[in-house]
Amino acid sequence: MSRSLVIAIDGPAGTGKSSVARGLAVAMGARYLDTGAMYRIVTLGVLRAGVDPADAAAVAAVAAEVELAVGHDPGEDRSYLAGEDVSTEIRGDAVTKAVSAVSAVPAVRSRLVALQRELASAPDNVVVEGRDIGTVVLPAADVKIFLTASAEERARRRDAQNVAAGLPGDYEAVLADVRRRDHLDSTRAVSPLRAAEDAVVVDTSDMNQAEVVAYLTELVEQKAGVAR
Ligand code: C5P
Repeated sequence: MSRSLVIAIDGPAGTGKSSVARGLAVAMGARYLDTGAMYRIVTLGVLRAGVDPADAAAVAAVAAEVELAVGHDPGEDRSYLAGEDVSTEIRGDAVTKAVSAVSAVPAVRSRLVALQRELASAPDNVVVEGRDIGTVVLPAADVKIFLTASAEERARRRDAQNVAAGLPGDYEAVLADVRRRDHLDSTRAVSPLRAAEDAVVVDTSDMNQAEVVAYLTELVEQKAGVAR
């Protein structure tokens, strides 16, 4: 892989997208950009400012000011709000519940999309992970991948992760949350979640993480070979 490549990975929550995107970035020696973390940082900023996530005008005002930064290392992805390391806090329940509403605000998206394009433009391999990377953020990406899995399988994985992290298991509640977020993300007016026409759709329901990473690495090598 001599030429620098931009790889877009999109898909809903619970497809193993983050682990797979990081695994692919490690295999390619690429930088990794987690755009979901950026929406989560803004959401934390909104919550800390005491703003109602449903108040779009107030959310937009916070988003215009929020100072955010993310790391590029696939081995250790770090998120900062005004210089503070918030990598753990942005994965908590409060942020997870509010992030869909915040990310539906057009001013939030336009600020973050501009930042994502800037971060992805450095001249080396980069794997960019999100919901609208292949469709909106980087429509000229060299390889576009859209990961899917059934809602039940995604809920099962997330529930198992919660249990492994010492949280109480509640499959039905997790499944309801997966469906709620799918609905919000796929029906919002700005950048709804969908596969780009030229994306390779990969159903991960019956594949483990290593199998998906191996499959994608091969796919990228093939596409890079064709593009060269
Ligand atoms: O990927 P992650 O689950 O951390 O993303 C959190 C939320 O951020 C998603 O549910 C979605 O609402 C939003 N998001 C988005 N566009 C992206 C990445 C994430 O709207 N490119």
